[in-house]
Amino acid sequence: MVSIAPTPRRGPAPRLAIRRWLAVSGVMALSACVGSPAHHATPQRSTAQIAPSPSGRQCLSSLGQSQVNFTPLPDQYFGAGCSTINTVRLSWLRSDDAHLQLANMGPVTCSLASALEGWARFGVDRAARLTLGSPLARIDTFGSYNCRNVAGTDHRSAHATANAVDIAAFVLADGRRISVKGNWSDGTPAERNFLRVVRTNACKRFAIVLTPDYNIAHHDHFHLEVGPQRPICH
Ligand SMILES: [Zn+2]
Repeated sequence: MVSIAPTPRRGPAPRLAIRRWLAVSGVMALSACVGSPAHHATPQRSTAQIAPSPSGRQCLSSLGQSQVNFTPLPDQYFGAGCSTINTVRLSWLRSDDAHLQLANMGPVTCSLASALEGWARFGVDRAARLTLGSPLARIDTFGSYNCRNVAGTDHRSAHATANAVDIAAFVLADGRRISVKGNWSDGTPAERNFLRVVRTNACKRFAIVLTPDYNIAHHDHFHLEVGPQRPICH
């Protein structure tokens, strides 16, 4: 039968987005004075800008035109190469006819949010319908912002600037949970195919995509990263 589409809700209009951004700026500036969230490294310095840069405003405006729900966050600098500049908190994304929930997501840069928005709708939800016969309901993540280095190196991970997110699993509307850890190698042929289609689609929208094929450190998640780097799809 016909699925019932919820009343479409759009992300905040650009003007509203900026207003909300200014509203949270004060709160976050205060919280920066009394300490950062536990997952941040000890901050050496933290400041909040008054307004996003022109390119940041343009990204927020574009995100506001898409049908996702988000809150712009103030810029914060934590020192030692760690910062959250032009980031948003995503509440939910949209498929063609429903909300897509997100689990365990922290701040993401606006450009990462934009890539996620398109990938979830066109690269994951539609793949789930085609290969597994059910729409996507939720994406489970292992988080986004994290002030840390690339494992085994002395340089900062894209997670340290909120330009990367780790994807753990996809929960379908029929209740099935397709995880990278459990289904990449041991799933049914359809589940394995779904995860590889989703990976291929991610490579069209993110600069760096790392999966269990890359190394053991990624046996249980997809690392999705935006930025100017030479593309890597593995
Ligand atoms: Zn990662």
